[in-house]
Amino acid sequence: MKRLIFLGPPGAGKGTQAIKLAEGAAIAHISTGDILRAAVAAQTPLGKQADDYMSRGDLVPDELVLGLVKERLSEADAQNGWILDGFPRNAAQAEALDELLASIEQSADRTVNFEVPDDVLVGRLLQRGRKDDTEEVIRHRLGVYREQTAPLIAFYQSKGKLASIDGNTEVDQVATSLQALLK
Ligand code: ADP
Repeated sequence: MKRLIFLGPPGAGKGTQAIKLAEGAAIAHISTGDILRAAVAAQTPLGKQADDYMSRGDLVPDELVLGLVKERLSEADAQNGWILDGFPRNAAQAEALDELLASIEQSADRTVNFEVPDDVLVGRLLQRGRKDDTEEVIRHRLGVYREQTAPLIAFYQSKGKLASIDGNTEVDQVATSLQALLK
């Protein structure tokens, strides 16, 4: 399986697993959060627009994120496959992704939902200590996740392509479960 969507709350370990898996399978790791943070650091027009939303823990407007995903999926390394990490994050993004994939005659093979309890997530994110990892912003991001992103679990379940994974174990253990799941 070479086209995957990683779904799950902030701090669930999607990025850690996506990096490993993408490297091993020679497919593209597409993290909208990483791309946006790079744009903020480089002060590009996209970064300047995204900065305030990200600092508050709000979602960046859909059209900005969609544009960057579209561009990224057209790059050479993504032709061999991809892992979408942190996208889609709401119903509109999920619908737009379906349309975008149809237009390039691709589709996702599987959506993997990472499950981790809230108290564990908060602990992990506080330890990570990114600029948007203060307790207040973390709580807000978890709220945004619950309201806007979690409904996508049912959306992908109804397509019959969802698999859930216990993200509350050691990194290597999660990687092993993921390998087994995607075989
Ligand atoms: P985390 O999963 O820890 O929240 P991410 O790196 O995925 O970290 O996202 C960090 C921030 O980047 C989000 O809080 C949001 O502001 C922005 N962001 C990332 N992906 C998206 C997206 N698909 N749509 C809107 N905003 C996004």
